[in-house]
Amino acid sequence: MSIVDTRTPNPKYFIAGATGDWEMVIGMEVHAQVTSEAKLFSGSSTEFGRPPNSNVSFVDAAMPGMLPVINDECVRQAVRTGLGLKAKINKRSVFDRKNYFYPDLPQGYQISQYKDPIVGEGKVLLDLGEDGEVEIGIERLHLEQDAGKSIHDQHPNMSFVDLNRSGVALMEIVSKPDLRSSDEAKAYLSKLRTILRYLGTCDGNMEQGSMRADINVSVRRPGGEFGTRCEIKNVNSVRFAGQAIEYEARRQIDILEDGGVIDQETRLFDPKSGQTRSMRSKEEAHDYRYFPDPDLLPLEFDDAFIDELAAHLPELPDEKSARFIESYGISHYDASVLVADRDSADFFESVAKGRDGKLAANWVINELFGRLNKDGTAVTDSPVSADQLGGIVDLISKGEISGKIAKDLFEIVWSEGGDPAKLVEERGMKQVSDTGAIEKIVDEIIAGNPDQVEKVKDKPGLLGWFVGQVMKQTGGKANPQAVNEILKAKLGLE
Ligand code: ADP
Ligand code: MG
Repeated sequence: MSIVDTRTPNPKYFIAGATGDWEMVIGMEVHAQVTSEAKLFSGSSTEFGRPPNSNVSFVDAAMPGMLPVINDECVRQAVRTGLGLKAKINKRSVFDRKNYFYPDLPQGYQISQYKDPIVGEGKVLLDLGEDGEVEIGIERLHLEQDAGKSIHDQHPNMSFVDLNRSGVALMEIVSKPDLRSSDEAKAYLSKLRTILRYLGTCDGNMEQGSMRADINVSVRRPGGEFGTRCEIKNVNSVRFAGQAIEYEARRQIDILEDGGVIDQETRLFDPKSGQTRSMRSKEEAHDYRYFPDPDLLPLEFDDAFIDELAAHLPELPDEKSARFIESYGISHYDASVLVADRDSADFFESVAKGRDGKLAANWVINELFGRLNKDGTAVTDSPVSADQLGGIVDLISKGEISGKIAKDLFEIVWSEGGDPAKLVEERGMKQVSDTGAIEKIVDEIIAGNPDQVEKVKDKPGLLGWFVGQVMKQTGGKANPQAVNEILKAKLGLE
């Protein structure tokens, strides 16, 4: 592939070495398991967690004379994914045999796509907070079969093979070498996972291995020639990706600064030590002897097929974020937090519809998500429903409860349930906006604290102390705005 550097070096990411600054260059090959009932070329189930070798047909076990038959749904999923990555869809693609020997690969080759993949160039937009947005190029996406799994830890002197995964459809999504820091790499993985989940084309469960990344890392002088890369295989968490990249870049810089050269090699990350170690060098690299699979015709489809899939694509995170900012007046940052997960976005939208969007976002993100995180509960299992949270937001908007009381109310709804408006009535939590009542309390406090009254004339900051006193006396139920106005007037602060 011809590599074009699309990025302007960002000094924030430079790594200081003994001989000057360095910059990381990162490109990823992500394997994403296609969400589909059946495998890529057989009717076997793809269900996770079944007993070993229960999802295996004669095709998956590569019995003589068995022929692959393409699963249409996997093709549709790959095209959907391509559309979600704003990529070029190739109307003609070819399946090739990638030949290598491994005990968990009964065919002796993997069916993959080499020169003519189903999806071509696309892009993923990353939101880097204060560093703005950056576009990461996608080189290609191709369909291929997964291999089986060798099991070495169940018998002292035998290995076992589980073919449940053999033949399951994977999408290999190859990025351009456009990433420049471990943070960007982590953001890329998270964003890609979010897009796949929105599309419903991969569940993105990295712990279960449905999404794993081969991470290519090199270092160079800022903006200079690309360096020799090393590939870190099969990283299965976003956090590990960050750690592996940091370690690997440092390792390469140390070698180069000692006057050494980087060997292009494949490495493995060990989460326990936080280090990468060599798995095989370039000399040991396989010669895969790719050739078109004679058992499969080239994959061909027309515009109507693509248009139909495009027409039924769900709203994707970038579009949803733009719409949230536009319709609900929320900040860019809040929108990006909300759309990172489709369930969260849906929850927010149920709360925000017909209400103050900013207030709704604040309550969903800070109160609800904060509480859910603390409990390790998913938003879909939230004890406070969108309706209930909406009820709390309504009470704040109408001035019936203060923000502080709203937090208490939230806790009650969280642990006991119930209708927020009714709870406020029943438990006398309504905000006191009756100025007469507030004035009476203010008068008492002024009369009882002549020293503070004296001081507040020179130190207006002391007003907060008075507000605190009023709140204490009213159990936090006084309308803060009314309290402030009355206090200022009576203390002669305006
Ligand atoms: P291969 O065919 O050997 O897998 P590719 O050229 O397809 O190699 O690139 C594989 C991955 O490596 C891509 O994600 C690409 O962005 C990345 N890559 C290529 N060159 C570099 C480099 N110098 N530094 C870091 N990553 C790179
Ligand atoms: Mg590769």
